[in-house]
Amino acid sequence: MHRTVLNPSCVDDLPPAAGYLLDLDGTLVQGGRALPWARPLLRGIEGRFAILSNDAEHTPQALSRQLDRLGLSVPPDRIILAGTAAVAEVARRHPGARVMLLGSAALRRVARAAGLRLALRGVEVVLLARDRRFDHAALAAAANALRGGAALVVANPDLTHPGPNGAIVPETGALLAALLACAGDVPHIVVGKPEPTLFRQALALLDTAPEATVMIGDNAATDGQGAARLGLRFWPVGNAALVPATA
Ligand SMILES: [Mg+2]
Repeated sequence: MHRTVLNPSCVDDLPPAAGYLLDLDGTLVQGGRALPWARPLLRGIEGRFAILSNDAEHTPQALSRQLDRLGLSVPPDRIILAGTAAVAEVARRHPGARVMLLGSAALRRVARAAGLRLALRGVEVVLLARDRRFDHAALAAAANALRGGAALVVANPDLTHPGPNGAIVPETGALLAALLACAGDVPHIVVGKPEPTLFRQALALLDTAPEATVMIGDNAATDGQGAARLGLRFWPVGNAALVPATA
């Protein structure tokens, strides 16, 4: 039976654990604001948590500064993000590769710093992240790179995320759907939740066993199922309790 952290007084009800993984959007922040339980929650588990987000646009340093402005103190080395983790995964699997990176300027800087060579032709890897400038030319270039044998690495599978007043904000998974519609269902690696890569990184960072670690999140399909696959407990926040969870 799932319980829900809905207000600061419920933070005391958190199950005891050696470590906690926290989703960001809908769990700590929403619509550019800290949720009411975010501060007491972080205080209650200080030194025992890592943030685990499918953000595929920003760096941990930038998000740490954003959170600081909202009164939430989280050092960058406690923030694990799908976008920067995807860059690291490409650099690990394909060191020094020629990469077509569809993503933000910040991710491009991270990729260059990781020794990857950003290119539009003769690429060995297409790295797809949240690209607000994604257009017909980018779609054509990426689809043809895949047709030419490039590997495909995707930051996260999310189709959308909720914007202000419930607006639909397209996410990396929507761009992936367009790309696969053109290139066919080519094999690809997904780094973000619910896949295990981010969870494993977080467990290594916290140095905790899966069964001694709790995932706190608002999405049963990503936070919950990703946690269940690795044997972590899932503690739903907000609307997650309304979604039938298999975790
Ligand atoms: Mg969320």
